[in-house]
Amino acid sequence: MNNGKEEKIKIILLGEPSTGKTSLIKVYLNDKFTEDVPSSLSSSFFQSVITVNEKKYLIDLWDTVGQENYRSITQHFIRDTNIVIFVYDITEKHTFNEIENYWIDKVKEVLNDSAILGIAGNKEDLYEKEVVEEDKAEKLAKKIGGFFKKTSAKENPKEFKTFVKMLIEQFLLKNNKIIKGNNIILNESSIIEDKNKKKKCCI
Ligand code: GDP
Ligand code: MG
Repeated sequence: MNNGKEEKIKIILLGEPSTGKTSLIKVYLNDKFTEDVPSSLSSSFFQSVITVNEKKYLIDLWDTVGQENYRSITQHFIRDTNIVIFVYDITEKHTFNEIENYWIDKVKEVLNDSAILGIAGNKEDLYEKEVVEEDKAEKLAKKIGGFFKKTSAKENPKEFKTFVKMLIEQFLLKNNKIIKGNNIILNESSIIEDKNKKKKCCI
């Protein structure tokens, strides 16, 4: 855990079930996609370390497993988050609508101004079945002052990672931890511990 030297950055993934949240986290951690995410992998909390200009940050990456069905994710859990990534499935319109009509409001009620918001349009590999206009997602991201990226946990594992790194960089810039124009070197130094047994996100 935090030994007092490293600052923490808390990242949570929110959205409807089956949009690919767990898969995205898995590819973030392992760089590879597995078709069926076993339910035994019901972990909610992973930790990794990122180094930005030689300063270490602990990245707490929270998955919401199952709870999204019951929408029992507490305001308390969201409140101290630094980066929220809303995930929708580009082939399922309702998953986008729910971000627009439910998840954003839920987050905005409690989230602090220093946080960064991202929207991931996942399952980009199924582009032939895309039903959510990209333009709409981009506009929504703009409206909430956030960032949008299409992702595919399945076919482009690096893409989501790049998106997360960009959001971390934006968070650090927004909070004056780094200065724009400076050479930003963002390296992962180590991954990963599954902290699930020690903490739960949503009671
Ligand atoms: P969660 O409920 O939001 O955590 O979603 P999961 O990660 O469990 O994924 C739901 C289903 O979508 C699983 O069958 C995954 O294999 C599949 N899936 C996840 N990401 C992608 C993707 O980028 N492309 C495709 N084609 N399938 C995906
Ligand atoms: Mg899941």
